[in-house]
Amino acid sequence: MYRVGVAYLNMSKYEKGMLYLFDSMTLSQRQGICDLQILVYIAIGDIYFDIGEYEKSTEYYNYAEKLTKIISKRKNYYNESFEFYAAKIYNRMGEIYRILRCYEYANIYYNLSVNLDNKLNYKATFGVALSNLAYVEFHLGHYDKAMENLNEALIYLNKYDYKSGIVEAYGLFALIHEKKGNYDECEKYFSKAMAVSSEISYVYAEIDLLLDYSNFLENTGKRDVAIGKLDEIYRISIENKMYAKTMEICKRAITLYEKANDVNNANIYYKLYFKYQKELEYLELENRATNLKSKVQLDNLEDENKRILEKSESFRRKTEELTETIKNISIISELGEKITTTLDLNQIYQMIHNTIQSFMKANTFGIGLYNEKKNTIEYQYLIENNVNTKLHEVNYDNPASMAVKCLRENKIITINDMFNEYSNYVDDLNYIIRNKENSELNSAIYCPLTIDNNLIGVITVQAFEKNSFTSLTIEIIKALSSYAAIAINNAIKSKNLLLEVQQRREVELQLKDTNNKLIYLSENDGLTNIPNRRKFDGIITEEWNKAKDRKSHISIIIFDIDCFKQYNDNYGHIEGDNCLIKISKILSQSLVKNYFAARYGGDEFVIVLPDTNLEEAMKYGEDFRLIVERLSLIHKFSTIRDTVTVTLGVSSVLPDNNSEIAQFIKHADEALYKAKNKGRNQIIGCEYENLE
Ligand code: GH3
Ligand code: MG
Repeated sequence: MYRVGVAYLNMSKYEKGMLYLFDSMTLSQRQGICDLQILVYIAIGDIYFDIGEYEKSTEYYNYAEKLTKIISKRKNYYNESFEFYAAKIYNRMGEIYRILRCYEYANIYYNLSVNLDNKLNYKATFGVALSNLAYVEFHLGHYDKAMENLNEALIYLNKYDYKSGIVEAYGLFALIHEKKGNYDECEKYFSKAMAVSSEISYVYAEIDLLLDYSNFLENTGKRDVAIGKLDEIYRISIENKMYAKTMEICKRAITLYEKANDVNNANIYYKLYFKYQKELEYLELENRATNLKSKVQLDNLEDENKRILEKSESFRRKTEELTETIKNISIISELGEKITTTLDLNQIYQMIHNTIQSFMKANTFGIGLYNEKKNTIEYQYLIENNVNTKLHEVNYDNPASMAVKCLRENKIITINDMFNEYSNYVDDLNYIIRNKENSELNSAIYCPLTIDNNLIGVITVQAFEKNSFTSLTIEIIKALSSYAAIAINNAIKSKNLLLEVQQRREVELQLKDTNNKLIYLSENDGLTNIPNRRKFDGIITEEWNKAKDRKSHISIIIFDIDCFKQYNDNYGHIEGDNCLIKISKILSQSLVKNYFAARYGGDEFVIVLPDTNLEEAMKYGEDFRLIVERLSLIHKFSTIRDTVTVTLGVSSVLPDNNSEIAQFIKHADEALYKAKNKGRNQIIGCEYENLE
């Protein structure tokens, strides 16, 4: 659309061009294509330039210039650097001042353009800005400076092969040399200029050049040649219907013919002059009417465009607001995501605090949890000016606490001017005085943390500045608070669960311990601490089956303390007990291999000897009998000797399906009985088979 607009501009179809340019502008603005916008502004400026509306033209060049400043700050985004566009704009501004013959201003703008374009090897103006500068310098009489710049301009004009620029530059060279009196040089440059001019069809420049040339011819005394040239220019001008130029040519011709005293020819040109003056007047009127119409249409278009621009401005503002909202939503969702990954309360408090700081300046931030049992709000996290503050608790019946008020009513409290608003929330006329240390806190929010009407606690955010809370920040804090409530509730629940699990584990351990104790008690004898009969019953069956499986021997010894009744009767029960304990102790100590001993009942004990045949069992029993003897527990009332002795009965078997445990034990019992009868303090053993 931009290019179509410029094409219409080049054909002087300004309204059409303008339509395309404005459409292009609207779109480029909406899409943020800043450099296209600049080009469109320049083109619109060019339209106004062409119809001689220089003020409007300047206005659009100024818009364009402002945009170049924007892109200069974001260099990498655009097709061309800001210098490229600015050089184009300044060159045009110079052009306006040049037409208005305000050469000093023109000089300033051309210089600006040249300085920028120089950095780009004159990519923006192809060197035209430089030769324009030279033109102004020429008019200001700075010939050397002008030459210098022209020479440089030519380098770039040639480099970019910009022919009409080259024609103008050579023409200007010729004029400078003429002024300096270098006529040969002057002639040379005129012919150079004319040679290039013939390669292109830029009539306007060609006529100017020829006019300057005929001027030079006249000045150097070649009037006839000069007049001849004028005739030639006249024809070109007429062919191209350039009436203003034709009149200028006529005037020059009249002067020259009069100087040559050629009245006839002078007369002809007088007539022609007036003829074309009429034509021109007519044309000018027509042109002015057209321009006027154009201007009205352009102004309408401009108004329309301004409305569009305003709309797009409000659109931009809305976009900004939406972007802000999206940013805030992402703040909230980010926190939501993070906060659910931890059950650590302190980490949760920290996250909420950090998030709040990311979108506002909070001087004070606190989280208090409701304690139903204690009827308090306990601050768990309190930061004042980035410093952890001593935690405290507030009684839930305190009428002067905003936190209490907030939680009791389950309503957010927002204060943007503490001094004037506090009394709406607390029944305490001294509130400000009491909170003197916080008296600079002019804004405060208290947000309740609740889940399904369960009170969790409160969050408070406070700031020194008045009006710190906008409707947006309030909304964010509300949203954060609901996340916070869930996260804190979960963390507390899990903490309680953990506690419960721990307690349960402790109870379990205690139970296990008790159980072990019970098992111990049920399997051991309370007095002697060695296994009891019940345990023995289990062991003997186990060992019996093992022996049967392995086809190995098993033996059993039952022994009984001799004359223990007398011991009891004479030394007392306690001493009797002690005697039982001592016997048990040495019995335990005497055990070898996988032998097992138990108190069988009263003063009777039993030993199970797996993998042991009768001979080995007899040996072991005899050894034990001697150990008891050697223990020398005084027993003055024994019928055997004056120390405690034992009598042992042994039974041994290679168990098979025909043998029985009961029988096996009974044999040992019988052996013991035999030994008692044979005089005690001795051992008798028997093989299972032998006793049928
Ligand atoms: P024998 O040589 O024939 O075995 O004679 P004895 O006197 O030892 O007779 P018996 O085995 O019948 O007597 C056992 C005595 O052991 C009877 C009872 O007073 C005593 N006794 C049984 N259990 C305990 C006990 O736990 N503590 C004490 N102090 N005495 C017990
Ligand atoms: Mg006894």
